[in-house]
Amino acid sequence: MNDRMTTAARLRGSVNHIDLTVRDMAASVPFYEALLSFLGYVRVKQEAALHVWELVRDGQIVAGVALRAARSPREHDRYAAGLHHLAFHAADRDDVDRAHALMKEQGTILDPPADYPQYGAGYYAVFVADPDGLKLEVVHYIG
Ligand SMILES: [Zn+2]
Repeated sequence: MNDRMTTAARLRGSVNHIDLTVRDMAASVPFYEALLSFLGYVRVKQEAALHVWELVRDGQIVAGVALRAARSPREHDRYAAGLHHLAFHAADRDDVDRAHALMKEQGTILDPPADYPQYGAGYYAVFVADPDGLKLEVVHYIG
């Protein structure tokens, strides 16, 4: 088994990509560029109504995030049907702290870095809101 097959097998069932709708690309693109580039994503598409970032490991795309222009002015409501929040893996606790330092300048911090034992032993995370109010999380957790 080569590395590519190993990576693919390891990723089986994990999220491949997610497309988010945003009301204001001018506000959301810099926000997501800051967060996603920090996490290792590279922007691969920049169009007026579509921006795409990919995370590549071992020469293989392991995750993608896209922003699409919203067609409704409605604010995101995580307690309506749909997406409640989106979480990204951090390498370690320091990585969570670095994400917090970066996101303080970009968005709204909902909950600062802390242990959240209710989610599991060693669960350490920060929670932020994007410009549309979508809740994002950066978490280090060895479950
Ligand atoms: Zn979460």
